[in-house]
Amino acid sequence: MNSLERTLAVLDHRIPDRVPVALHNFLMACRMVRADFRDTLRSGELLAEAQLAAWREFGHDVIMHENGVCAEAEALGCEILYPAEGAPHVADPVVKSLDDVARLNVPDPEKTFPLNELLKATRILVRETRGEVFIIGRADQGPMALAAALCGPEKLLTAAADPALRSKVLQLLDLCSRMNRVFGEAQRRAGAHGSSIGAYGSSLISPRMYDELEFPGNKAFVEAMRQVGCRSFVHSCGNETALLPHLVRTGADCLELDPLTDPKTCKDATRGKTSVLGMLDPHGVLRRGDPSEVREHTLDIMRIMAPGGGFLMGPGCALPLDAPAASIHTVMDCARTAGAYRPDGSLSGFPPRPW
Ligand SMILES: [Zn+2]
Repeated sequence: MNSLERTLAVLDHRIPDRVPVALHNFLMACRMVRADFRDTLRSGELLAEAQLAAWREFGHDVIMHENGVCAEAEALGCEILYPAEGAPHVADPVVKSLDDVARLNVPDPEKTFPLNELLKATRILVRETRGEVFIIGRADQGPMALAAALCGPEKLLTAAADPALRSKVLQLLDLCSRMNRVFGEAQRRAGAHGSSIGAYGSSLISPRMYDELEFPGNKAFVEAMRQVGCRSFVHSCGNETALLPHLVRTGADCLELDPLTDPKTCKDATRGKTSVLGMLDPHGVLRRGDPSEVREHTLDIMRIMAPGGGFLMGPGCALPLDAPAASIHTVMDCARTAGAYRPDGSLSGFPPRPW
C-alpha cells in the first residue's frame, strides 16, 4: 500500500498494512528549512517546500498543512502579527462591535490572502507527492474559535451568555461556519484529500454550550466536505473524554485528539464509528523525551488505539518548532515495525488479543 491507500483504508474502516503516521508539524517544518517564518508562512511555495522537506526526511503518510490558526481571520480582515519564529496571532480583531458582523462577507479563497497561498501550497504538495500521499489542507479554526479571533474571546463568551445578544452571536457563527465550508471546498478543488477544523472544546466551553454553538458548524462542515468527496477531520485538543460522544455525532471521518483524552475511553467511544488521528503527546514526550521514552509512549498509545484499525498515529496537536527529528524517526520506526497489521487487525508487534 502507498501512503494514500493506507490512510484511506483507515478512514474507510478497513485494515491497512500498517499504522499510518500523520504529522501536525507546520512549525517544525518551517524550522527544518531554516527560513524566516514571516516569509514561509505567507508563501504557498515556501509552505510547500517546508512540508516536502519534512516529508522527504520522515516519509510520513499524511501531510497536514496550514500556516497557523489565523488564516481565515486574516482573510476576513483581522490584522495578524507574524513573528520571526513562531505561529502568527491576531493583533487587531476586525469585529469591534457585534453590529460589524453584518458588514462582513465570506471572501473568495482563490483571490484572498493568505487563503490563496495555502491553496497554492496544496496544489504543489499534491503534485510533488504524485497523488500517493494523503494531503490535509486544513480549513483552520472552527466556528467558535474563528469567531473568538474575529471579535476577541472575552467578547464572544460574554455575548454568548447574554440572551439579548444570542441572535448576533448566531449570525457571527454562521459567517464563520460558511467561511470554513467555502475554504474546505476550495481545498478539495485544489486537490486536498481531507480538510480539518479546530473545535472549541471542553477546555473552553461546557458540553451544552458545545452542542448549542459549536456542534452545528462542525456538522455543517462535515456534511459539506462529504458533498465534495473530501474527508473531514475535527480537531479538539485537551481532555475531551466527556465530549467524545458529541464529537462522534458530528459524523466526521476522523477526530484529531491528544492523550489528555483518555485513550482507552476514546477507543471504546470511536470504534466502528469514526477514526482517530493523534494521541501522541507533542510537548511532554515528542519534544522533551529521549528516543527510549518516545518509543515507550508510542507503543503504549499504539497498543490501545491501533488494534482493529481506525487509527492514524501522530502528535495530538501541533508539534513545537524545536521538536527533535529523532522523535519523529522513532515514531516512524514504531509504525513500520510494531505497527504492521495481521489480517485479523491485531498488530505484529503485540500479542494477538480480542478487542
Ligand atoms: Zn490542538
